Amino acid sequence: MSLVNWDMICTPKCKGGLGFKKLDIMNHALLMKNTWRLIIEPTKLSNQVLLTKYDVQLDEVPTSLPTQYGSHLWKAMGNIWEKTRMGMRWNIGDGKKVRFWWDCWVTTSSPLADCMTQPILNTLLSKRVADFVDETENWNWCLFSHLVPNNILLKIASVHPPKASHGADNYFWGVSSNGVFYVKSAYELLDDPIGNEDRNFWRLGWSWKGPQSICVFLWLLLHGRLKTMKELHMRHLVVSTQCDRCRGPVEDILYTLRDCVTARRINLMRNTNDTSQEYWRVCFGVAVWRLWFWRNDILFNHGSWESGFIATDIKVRTHEILRCSHQPLLGKQQRVETMIRWKAPSDADFLTSHSLTTPIGLHVLLSPPPAIFGLLCNDAYGIAHSRLVLH
Ligand SMILES: [Zn+2]
Repeated sequence: MSLVNWDMICTPKCKGGLGFKKLDIMNHALLMKNTWRLIIEPTKLSNQVLLTKYDVQLDEVPTSLPTQYGSHLWKAMGNIWEKTRMGMRWNIGDGKKVRFWWDCWVTTSSPLADCMTQPILNTLLSKRVADFVDETENWNWCLFSHLVPNNILLKIASVHPPKASHGADNYFWGVSSNGVFYVKSAYELLDDPIGNEDRNFWRLGWSWKGPQSICVFLWLLLHGRLKTMKELHMRHLVVSTQCDRCRGPVEDILYTLRDCVTARRINLMRNTNDTSQEYWRVCFGVAVWRLWFWRNDILFNHGSWESGFIATDIKVRTHEILRCSHQPLLGKQQRVETMIRWKAPSDADFLTSHSLTTPIGLHVLLSPPPAIFGLLCNDAYGIAHSRLVLH
C-alpha cells in the first residue's frame, strides 16, 4: 500500500517531498545544458559541426532551430530550444541585438510579447530595443506605453536606455543567482512540483538531528500518513476505527502517539536531569518513533511492554544520539595525507629479521610484515629466483 504518491516523492524537500528527480525532466535539463553550450560556445568544434551541418547562424539567437530533418539529438535540442531561451536573460548595452518584444530583458520569466495589452503591427514586433529610444537617448515612451501594463512600464523605467558607449548587449543564464548554467537550475525551471512551500513546516522533520530513518518517519508523520486504524478504515481495509489496545473509539495519529492509554502511561520526566532544549528536541523524535514501533509490536507480534521499560529505552536512545552528535567527525583538517610510492628494495632488504632462508632458498615468513612484494628476479648468471621481498 503506497502511503505517499510518486509525484509527492519527486517534489523538493522544501515542498514536502523527498527530492527524487523525475527522469524525463532530468533528461530535458541535460539536453538544455547541450543547447546552452551551443549558444555560448559556438566556436567549439562539436558545436561548429552541428551549426555547419544544419546551417544555423547564431549571430543572433534564433527563436527556433530547423528540425524538419536531423539526428535524434538535434531534434531533441530543437524541442528544448524554446525553453532554453526562457532561461536566457539580457543585459542591455547598445540595444542593437535584443528584440524588444521577444527577448527577456525586463521581466524575469517571459518576454514583453506575453504582456501586450493589445495586438500590434508585425513591423513593430521585429524591432530592437535600440529602436525605442529618442534622440536624447531616453526611452521613447509614446511608442510603447499604450501597449504594455503599468507595472511593466515601471520596470522598463528602471532599465538604463541603450547607448552605443555601453558596448554590445550580453546575455546570461537568468535562473541561477550567479548567471552560470547549472543542470539543477534548469531542472527547477522545467519542473512544476506539487505540494505547499511552507519551508519551516517541512524543515521541522529534516532539521531533526538524528538517524535518517527517524527523519523519514517524521516526514511521514508530518504528512499524516501512518497506517493507523482510521487510515486503514478510510481505505476499506478494516471494519472498525477502534484502538485495539485500549478500545478507544478512533485510533488516528494523535490518538496513537498521545491519547492512547499505553502512550499516556509513559513518563519521560522521571529520572531525567537533562532539561536542555536540545535533549527534548531529540527525545521527541525518538519517542514518537518508538511509540509507533511498540504499537505495531503489540498489535502484530502480540508483544507486551512495561511503560517504565519504554521510557528508559527512549532515554537511552536519546542520550546515544546526543553523544554521537557531539562527537567531532573526522574533518578535512584532521586528515593526514601521506604520499604512497614504490621504493626499489636494496639487497639488504631481501633478508630481514622477519624472514629466514631455508636450505633450498625459500624465504619463510615468521611474522606478517606490513607489506610484501613477490618478485621473480634474475641473478648475475641469468638464473631466475622467486623471492618474497619485505618492504
Ligand atoms: Zn489505545
